[in-house]
Amino acid sequence: CCMADELLRICREYRHETCGHCVFGHEGSYQMATILEDVCHKRGKSGDLELLQDLAPMMEEQSLCEVGRVLAKTVRQTCALFGDEIAAHYARKVCPAGACDAYKTFHILVSKCTGCGDCLDACEDGAIMGKANFVHVIDQRKCTQCGRCLDACGEGAVVKAGAKKPKTPPRPIPVRRKK
Ligand code: SF4
Ligand code: SF4
Ligand code: SF4
Repeated sequence: CCMADELLRICREYRHETCGHCVFGHEGSYQMATILEDVCHKRGKSGDLELLQDLAPMMEEQSLCEVGRVLAKTVRQTCALFGDEIAAHYARKVCPAGACDAYKTFHILVSKCTGCGDCLDACEDGAIMGKANFVHVIDQRKCTQCGRCLDACGEGAVVKAGAKKPKTPPRPIPVRRKK
């Protein structure tokens, strides 16, 4: 699993338990959840990991009860162990575990595409290149990850990929007919 996503889940759970009696426990957890939410949804920015690392020890020291301290300790330790993985989300625009949906990309498999054009018709963002009997190709710069092409393709040629991406040609190529 993705450690940023896992921490986000823990922070959200804590938000339901917090009583609001201390600023660090209440606001601290809100800030942590907001930062992690951004990291997991492609809105993270450089310095987010350091922000979590600054916030966690302060929250651990200042929270009035064990609930806030345990959350802060969990965030501090996870950031120390998996900081690179968390930072990769905004530094390299990748979820190394391939778990965060926002970082998944759509691709068309050469081995399965028949060049029918159904995906091209379904794409409202003009992100698919192709013509009849050519293997279609998704332009990653235009793709908004809406998933319409995945639903439209009856051949199972459109796939959603996490950290490991399938090899695809840069532009449409003729479909190779099976003998
Ligand atoms: S740390 Fe404890 S006292 Fe503070 S807001 Fe959370 S639950 Fe309440
Ligand atoms: S990806 Fe699927 S829908 Fe698109 S052209 Fe190839 S076979 Fe047709
Ligand atoms: S995911 Fe949506 S935007 Fe991207 S290529 Fe498919 S239909 Fe087009």
